[in-house]
Amino acid sequence: MKIHEYQSRDLLQKFGVPVPPAEVVDTPDQAAAAYTKLGSKLCVVKAQVHAGGRGKGGGVKLVRSADEARDAAKAILAKPLVTPQTGPEGVPVNKLLVAAGVDIEKEYYIAIAVDRGGGTPVLIASSEGGMDIEQVAHDTPDRILREPIDPVAGVHPYEARKVAFALGLQGKQIGQAVRIITSLVSLFLQTDASLAEINPLVVTPADDANPDGRLLAIDAKIDLDDNALFRHKDLQALHDPTEDDPDEVRAQEHGLSYISLDGNIGCLVNGAGLAMATMDIIKLHGGEPANFLDVGGSASEAAVTEAFRIILNDPKVEGVMVNIFGGIAKCDTIAAAIITAAKEVGFTVPLVVRLEGTNVEPARNLLEGAKGDLPTMQIGSDLTDAAKKMTAAIAA
Ligand code: GDP
Ligand code: MN
Repeated sequence: MKIHEYQSRDLLQKFGVPVPPAEVVDTPDQAAAAYTKLGSKLCVVKAQVHAGGRGKGGGVKLVRSADEARDAAKAILAKPLVTPQTGPEGVPVNKLLVAAGVDIEKEYYIAIAVDRGGGTPVLIASSEGGMDIEQVAHDTPDRILREPIDPVAGVHPYEARKVAFALGLQGKQIGQAVRIITSLVSLFLQTDASLAEINPLVVTPADDANPDGRLLAIDAKIDLDDNALFRHKDLQALHDPTEDDPDEVRAQEHGLSYISLDGNIGCLVNGAGLAMATMDIIKLHGGEPANFLDVGGSASEAAVTEAFRIILNDPKVEGVMVNIFGGIAKCDTIAAAIITAAKEVGFTVPLVVRLEGTNVEPARNLLEGAKGDLPTMQIGSDLTDAAKKMTAAIAA
């Protein structure tokens, strides 16, 4: 589960990472009031969306007066935010964070993620933090430090110090970095996070009170492991349904696993493995799947009909491929759902159906009898034949 920056900042603070004060608002006037309340000459107005790269898309604006804060808020709320991570249509912005701004001497990157290969959490750090970290990782991977973390013992102080030195931090910065790294690891482990990232972690310019500057987290991104959320009632409350894909939510409510993709062939399959194989074979024959959809092993006719509604509702879909291996799910249930969907929504796009297994004969008879309602239907004799018919029908 993804959470917002403001929620991530609250968690960081709770675990002892220093974060500048901030206010969450949802109107331009509230943004102006928050500027005044924060009492910092420099403030930052930031779009709260579940996508990174906001700075590059105009979703992070530095302001120096209440009027500037109001104008910045108005501009950010006015239209969907397009960033390198959102796709061209962008994402709507409903909430803003107004944070006390800080002067920056240098930007660093630190994160804890899961190293699947190593089977451990891993501390990732770089002295080249900020908005171009993806570019740094791509062009100069040696500038990214990686330190595996023991999932039971957590981070040892000497490991945190090693990373702080490797980042080139000096004097009092070292102790601050060790505390921040230790806090971040505790947060990661205790919340069952899959990612806890601070980018940038900044060093502020030296002043009399802080001759080595201060280390502060000015952006945070935390992803929580869905499979562990049952252990964290307080974290479940951080879920923001307005950020979810409405079709994916609809599917979930009917017990369907649905993920929208970029292609044009809608897929309806039972079983995650078969769904993957179906997507592979569509691609092998030159097609592009529009979605992953697993109706599950024991799908009811109502759930499968809903699945067709979701697929046919997607304007990208130019063809629908049904691939069912009837085990617990019965082929005739799926056939009945195809016919219901055809009567309700109508298949104006090509439909290719491949059914095999339990009750396949009654299913074929049902489809045969409903040909009038299914003018675009073809039957695939096997998976390859179905994929070929599907890609040919779309190309035609
Ligand atoms: P992201 O682009 O979504 O990762 O948003 P960030 O919160 O990381 O902000 C992007 C960039 O804006 C940062 O890398 C900083 O360079 C700049 N920025 C954000 N907050 C401040 C601030 O308080 N002071 C200054 N000077 N720059 C900031
Ligand atoms: Mn950032």
